[in-house]
Amino acid sequence: MPLDLSSVPILDQHCHSLLRDARITAADYPRFFTESTEPEMRAAHAAHSIFFRWAIKELGGYFGCAPAVEAVVAARAAVAPEALARRMLTDANITAQVLDHGYQSAETYTVAELRAQEPCRITPILRLETVAQDLIVRHETFDQMMKAFETEVGGARAAGHVGLKSIIAYRTGLAVREPARGEAAAAFGVAKEQARRDGRLRLASKPLNDHLLLRALDLAAHDGLPVQIHTGFGDGDLDLLAATPLHLRPLITSERYARVPFVLLHAGYPYVRELSYLAAIHTNVYMDLGLAVPYLAADVPAMFRAALSLAPTSKLVFSTDAYSIPEIYWLAARWGRRGLALVLDEMIAMGALGADEARDIAGDILGTNAARLYGVPLEENPA
Ligand SMILES: [Zn+2]
Repeated sequence: MPLDLSSVPILDQHCHSLLRDARITAADYPRFFTESTEPEMRAAHAAHSIFFRWAIKELGGYFGCAPAVEAVVAARAAVAPEALARRMLTDANITAQVLDHGYQSAETYTVAELRAQEPCRITPILRLETVAQDLIVRHETFDQMMKAFETEVGGARAAGHVGLKSIIAYRTGLAVREPARGEAAAAFGVAKEQARRDGRLRLASKPLNDHLLLRALDLAAHDGLPVQIHTGFGDGDLDLLAATPLHLRPLITSERYARVPFVLLHAGYPYVRELSYLAAIHTNVYMDLGLAVPYLAADVPAMFRAALSLAPTSKLVFSTDAYSIPEIYWLAARWGRRGLALVLDEMIAMGALGADEARDIAGDILGTNAARLYGVPLEENPA
């Protein structure tokens, strides 16, 4: 009998909040299933991915409607948004979330609001670039801004955050280096000018981004706080070449950051084997599987095979990286369990694992590893 992992609870170790305004038209629906921000990709091509085609079939099954976009969109609209989220997360058996609220903060529910409506325990992580952007707008000098940044990041754990997160891969790349003396302060001047002109800021200055991340890593090392870093694919505007996790080796291996658990996100896709290698060699590297699940859809089992090629199972942590609509969390949980079960079954057939062993490993990857890493309970249900 194939492994059934539906009763194994998920600790979603990296995800985002839900949209407040859940009204979505059939024409608009495919955009939630692509990372591309190009209007023509969203309008003409996003509906043609296997991800979207399979998702519509699965959601038709879930809602008991025809496997067609219009029918699924009508079925979701017939349920109150909060009830839909509660129902889908319960069905997905996601019992805890480590949540990054620094993305689309204005359009989505706050952590407190989510806690009131979702059936799982929600613990936040602190998104560094969002903090920094805000502080650059609010402070006049580089020293004032850095002092405020260090206070906020240094106080992250006391404020209830169980980790830090950086999206530096998508802004200035993962080849992070200590900038020359004065370089970050000079870059602050330029960023400040931009913030003054536009009233807001998109932080994309290499010396400044690098300096901020390195100071945050110093603070994380002091607290032993896990740091999530995006690697591989993700936002539509990234330079994939600068996002290979191999660029992080100097940080990972430096004496200074030896106590920092580096949680490298998105399975590093397409650099899955590279990330599996890093997790197999370095004690302080953990491999997240989010975004790859569910975006790779029919190819999710291949991702699991590559992830498990070298990395010990104690180093793999599951997530959905879902955002905006509850369907994505549900699909990621479903396809994640299915892909993992399929690959573990192959290993049982090969004689590499016993059935009980495989089930334990699934429990570790889907929740227990992350619960240990962040020090958050897994199964306790606050609802
Ligand atoms: Zn994310």
